Amino acid sequence: MKSDLTISEARKGLKSREFSSTELTEYYLARIEQLSALNAFVTIDREKALVAAKKADVAISNGEDKALLGVPIAVKDLFCTNGTRTTACSKILYDFVPPYESTVTQNLLNDGAVFLGKTNMDEFAMGSANITSCFGACFLPFRKKSNVNAKLVPGGSSGGSAAAVASDLCVAATGSDTGGSIRQPASFSGLVGIKPTYGLCSRWGMIAFASSLDQAGPLSKTVEDAAIMLKSMAGYDDKDATSENVEIPDYTKSIGKSIKGMKVGLVAEFMEGLSLENLDVLEKTCGWLKDSGCEIVELSLRTVPYALPAYYIIAPAEAASNLARYDGVRYGYRASECRDIEDLFVRSRSDGFGEEVKRRILTGTYVLSAGYFDAYYSKALKIKKMISDDFRDNAFSKVDIILSMTTPTTAFSIEETDGMSPVEMYLNDMFTVTANIATLPGISVPAGLSSDGLPVGVQLIGNRMMEEMLFRVAHVIEQCANFRELKKSILMEV
Ligand code: GLN
Repeated sequence: MKSDLTISEARKGLKSREFSSTELTEYYLARIEQLSALNAFVTIDREKALVAAKKADVAISNGEDKALLGVPIAVKDLFCTNGTRTTACSKILYDFVPPYESTVTQNLLNDGAVFLGKTNMDEFAMGSANITSCFGACFLPFRKKSNVNAKLVPGGSSGGSAAAVASDLCVAATGSDTGGSIRQPASFSGLVGIKPTYGLCSRWGMIAFASSLDQAGPLSKTVEDAAIMLKSMAGYDDKDATSENVEIPDYTKSIGKSIKGMKVGLVAEFMEGLSLENLDVLEKTCGWLKDSGCEIVELSLRTVPYALPAYYIIAPAEAASNLARYDGVRYGYRASECRDIEDLFVRSRSDGFGEEVKRRILTGTYVLSAGYFDAYYSKALKIKKMISDDFRDNAFSKVDIILSMTTPTTAFSIEETDGMSPVEMYLNDMFTVTANIATLPGISVPAGLSSDGLPVGVQLIGNRMMEEMLFRVAHVIEQCANFRELKKSILMEV
């Protein structure tokens, strides 16, 4: 089996009968087992995968043609999957088997995808290193030149999906992004990751973290694959009141289109304090874009520095409210031998939730409490509105798209996370949260390797519903960076 297949390569091979979906699925299942030390998967659905693959093989031999027919992919353990355990990597949901399928995963199934299993993630999608999972941390197979023994994290919260795609344990995977959880791990792992416009993918059946910010999206090996995956995942859903009723275009059509005449914005507030190496990456990327006919425009968005503080008020507030449902009574973990109902609530939640989740619930409850609501929560909502207006009035009136780094650093090691305070960890999201706060689409695309030999990603932010433009520009960066070739020089553990 050829390794590191993209969706389009897999579809080609399946159509030409070079291999069957069953062979492909078996190949990935064997790799998942072989590389189980990476801890990328938390549930492997062998039987279900093989049944789906067989069904796809029959459909292919009947001449059926669907976007993902027979393609083995992985699903972040945040999406409810009918009959397959879904935990959000929390002890409180350790044995939860949903009796229904999330809309996003149903859409993928309708397009013929084969699900291999569920991937590791930070508990309830809270984190930037995939170290808060109740199943333990997850790792990248990459090594950095300066310390080949360091075990690197794939970023978070969609770390398992990122590690799985980066190690070729599946063709592509789903992720979710509340403040950067698709783009940050994509950047660490040398992948493409897109967080679409809020409302493009249905949130129905996706375990809620912060409902006004959560969005599903793909993690993939190429921009084209991200376009194929997003087309399949997105679409109006009357089960989600915030779902946008818009036509989903064939995003692959925008790939390869000229970007001549486009205006690309560099935001001063995103450039402050960047390392020399990151400045070099941006300069190089601007060079590629200029050579392709773009104009680079420098601009300032004064509200941008307030996105991270506003996020760390709004997200915990919504999380505290969303997570109130886990009470040990209706489903999930229940503490035993409790004195009374109150004791049951307290002990189930105290045992069931991990440290980071408790920190968010406490913060959220505090900012929503009567005495502090106006000082924190209302103010954060006002800032959210100001940031959206700032992008509308001062960015997208002047430029078509914004370019920034995706993350301040490349992948770090698990040892480094030991010494990090929660706030230091939160700073990982400084470039990504803005798109969530402003409900805008953002994509991360690999732009090269760092001096330490690790992937570096750049981010493009577009106006609402301008995903096609993101794919168009990201594809140019991908071509110029020639990352699939560069990737071959990354030191691999396996
Ligand atoms: N790292 C951010 C957080 O911990 C974002 C998480 C996410 O996007 N789900 O809140």
